[in-house]
Order: sequence, then C-alpha cells, then structure tokens
Amino acid sequence: MATLQLKQVVKQFDDTRVIKGVDLDVNDKEFVVFVGPSGCGKSTLLRMIAGLESTSDGDILIDDQRINNVGPAERGLAMVFQSYALYPHMTVEDNMGFSLKLAGVSKEERRRKVREAVEILQLEPLLDRKPKALSGGQRQRVAIGRAIVRNPSIFLFDEPLSNLDAALRVQMRIELARLHEELDATMIYVTHDQIEAMTMADKIVVLQGGVVEQVGSPMELYHHPRNRFVAGFIGSPK
Ligand code: ADP
Ligand code: MG
Repeated sequence: MATLQLKQVVKQFDDTRVIKGVDLDVNDKEFVVFVGPSGCGKSTLLRMIAGLESTSDGDILIDDQRINNVGPAERGLAMVFQSYALYPHMTVEDNMGFSLKLAGVSKEERRRKVREAVEILQLEPLLDRKPKALSGGQRQRVAIGRAIVRNPSIFLFDEPLSNLDAALRVQMRIELARLHEELDATMIYVTHDQIEAMTMADKIVVLQGGVVEQVGSPMELYHHPRNRFVAGFIGSPK
C-alpha cells in the first residue's frame, strides 16, 4: 500500500518561488494526474516527490512517514521521464535490469524480473536491441519497464508520451491504464494535455503558477470548475 501526502510544500529557486504551498492527498492505487500549462511547476513538484529536488518548506509523507530527507533510492518510487533517459550503449535487457544490478540483485533474479516486465510490455523480440534501433514507442516501453522491475510503491510519470505521435499516444494511454490495473500501483502522471488528464485520471490536480487551482475527478472538474482558469483549461464553459 502507498499513500502520499503533500503539506504546504514550497520550492524556491534563488529568490523565485515556483511551488507556493501545495497540499495534496493521493490515495492508495489512485491514478492522479497533475495538469497545467508549461512552466506551472508540474515537473518540479514531481521531482520533489521523487527526491530529485529538495523541499524548501512543507512536508512530504509516504504512508504517513515524513520523507523530506530520505534519498531518492530509498523512497520506493520509480520515475519515468519524457526523454526516456535510456543508456545508449546497453541492450533493452541491460537497460531494464541496470538499477537492480546497482542494488546488488543477483543475475538470475534480475533476469526473472526483467522477463516479467518484458511480458507485461510485450518487448520480447527486442531484448537484445540497443535504444537507437527502437521506435519512440518502444523506447518509452523500455523506460516504463525499467520502472516496473523495481516494483515501486508509487510510479511517477513526467509527460511520458509527449514525444510520441498522436496515434501511438492513444495506444500508450490504453496500455498505461491496463498497467495501472495489472500492477495495482499508485501512479502520479504529469501532463500539459487536457485530454490525457480527462481520460486517464481518477483524480486531476490543476496547477497554475505553482498553485493548486482545483483537485477533483474529471467529471467534477468538467461540471463544476471552481474558476475561469479551470473552466478554460478543462474545456467546459462556466
Ligand atoms: P512544468 O513542468 O510545469 O513545465 P517546471 O516545474 O519545469 O514546469 O518549472 C516551473 C518553474 O520553475 C519554471 O518557471 C522554471 O523556469 C522554474 N525552474 C525549474 N527548474 C529550475 C531550476 N533548477 N532553477 C531555477 N528555476 C527553475
Ligand atoms: Mg515539465
């Protein structure tokens, strides 16, 4: 089980506040989408949850434990980036198993975990390829596979589909929804794409200028936007 809470979380870069006191509750196995325009602070907030950025003020809790000072590797999370961030010189299999290798997991155990993820993601025929011999969609699957093998309690996705063409994006959305069902995991997904937010989320968090404008289900936001910004962003006139 994995719940996440943010309490008055602030991020300040030099003298600029980019996250201005965010409160949020993420329930176990929820699919939560952070949506908002470019520059509103989505990636910064996700990176703070991942432990890749420090927290200037406020608290982050996983399963009621304060984790502000816990390192990224110890948080039990796995992050998937827009840029895939695959190692170019490694095969698909080695890319997927590398974090386990670093963690000292045995070769047999690594192989077993990678095979499991490969099956879920239908990557069998590609195990021996290097990233440059993969399509964008295949690379993104490998990046997701790298997260799966770590068996994280929470998955963090930062615009994972924005480099893919429209048709593949639709297909990958369906695959991610299936993955969410299959893995029974808590997922936090960042996007600037309203359609992605509306179709994938249990709960949407609308951000603007480092502030949460509204939190709710897609239908709540659509029918009861709290203000003009949310109404305009989610596409329902108020
Ligand atoms: P989003 O992911 O929503 O597009 P970001 O979280 O990347 O937004 O950025 C939010 C704001 O914080 C932007 O104004 C950005 O320029 C600023 N920012 C992000 N990272 C840094 C950094 N390392 N140093 C200074 N400012 C940053
Ligand atoms: Mg971003």
